[in-house]
Amino acid sequence: MPTAHFSALSHLECSRTGTTFDADVVQGTSDVGAPLLARYDLGRVAATVTREQIASRAPDLWRYRELLPVRGERHVCSLGEGMTPLLRLPRYGAQLGVPGLLMKDEGLIPTGSFKARGAAVGVSRAAELGARGVAMPTNGNAGAAWSVYAARAGLGSLIAMPVDAPEITRTECVVAGAELSLVDGLIGDAGKLVAAAVAERDGFQEVSTLKEPYRLEGKKTMGYEIAEQLGWRTPDVILYPTGGGVGIIGIHKALLEMRELGWLEGELPRLVAVQAEGCAPIVEAYERGESESRPVKDAHTVAFGITVPKALGDFLVLDAVRQTDGTAISVTDEELLAAQGELARAEGAFVCPEGAACFAAVHRLRDSGWLRGDERVVVLNTGSGLKYPETVPVDVPTLPVDGRIPSAP
Ligand SMILES: *Cc1c(COP(=O)(O)O)cnc(C)c1O
Repeated sequence: MPTAHFSALSHLECSRTGTTFDADVVQGTSDVGAPLLARYDLGRVAATVTREQIASRAPDLWRYRELLPVRGERHVCSLGEGMTPLLRLPRYGAQLGVPGLLMKDEGLIPTGSFKARGAAVGVSRAAELGARGVAMPTNGNAGAAWSVYAARAGLGSLIAMPVDAPEITRTECVVAGAELSLVDGLIGDAGKLVAAAVAERDGFQEVSTLKEPYRLEGKKTMGYEIAEQLGWRTPDVILYPTGGGVGIIGIHKALLEMRELGWLEGELPRLVAVQAEGCAPIVEAYERGESESRPVKDAHTVAFGITVPKALGDFLVLDAVRQTDGTAISVTDEELLAAQGELARAEGAFVCPEGAACFAAVHRLRDSGWLRGDERVVVLNTGSGLKYPETVPVDVPTLPVDGRIPSAP
């Protein structure tokens, strides 16, 4: 048997044209400006690693190291990310008419959002390829995660975010020593400032969403974990709150890789891209039958992490949804905030507004009959509700010390 290597990365491939690129030098997008996808020698992985071996490894995302791009173990920059719980939600599931409802809870990961997965793998690989620092525009959580992981790896970080992004994410950047700028605009405006700044700095790599290939590799591990946690079977449906789309593109990529590895049997799950009505370019493109989205004007939703008016990888999200017989659906802020409270009261889970959007979508899809009710349905909760305290109004009186708590209502 050939020996197992740390990574079986073989090359990068343009997601539009299939042209191949060298994976061992710093790469951004392809020659046609499309995201690059990391490809592995899957035959070698299948011949050298078993699912049982993976099960015996430490409970973090590096257990899938052959399928990750970092070649040298010493470059792994970790804060213990991965293997988050896959929780049954029997009471809330029964309320929604979907008793087989499960939640993959990414609120329990370093920095409190699944952006830690992309940052762990992206920062590790940037360091391995010799970067001195990383630079990115962000809606908050990605900037927080990349700042923290950059600090852990001894790299610099330059972050720009909208002034409206969740306040805690600024704090996370600052405490980790990032160079932070706030922008009176949206993530695209922040992106222009970052691109201009990077052009003037040696050794800083721009790591905007899908403009470098390895964040996707970190996020795809959610797909590996869901399959492993279900005994290497797939659920029937996976719902994902879609902004730039990296998570859903990554889960789709993981499913295809696992099928090629012979690790998965049966149909792929139907993938559902969930957006907020105030910013739903991918849902609109899906409904129009188009392969790419049109930029949204005046985007606005409380689910800040999915406020992406035009995603570079929109066509990949639409492919993932259509190839798996999934769908794309938007919900209102009112619906997602209601779902956030209902879930917390039924199950004690305080999810982020983006995750709550997926629960609101389950509600709608069950009402419309798209979900029959007998499926195993996994919702990705992409972050902790603790990062968004302002989404829950707290309207209670402060009592004088000699006051009385009102009698039970
Ligand atoms: C970034 C983010 C998303 C959207 O992720 P993409 O991979 O860009 O689609 C969803 N939820 C939260 C909490 C986020 O921070």
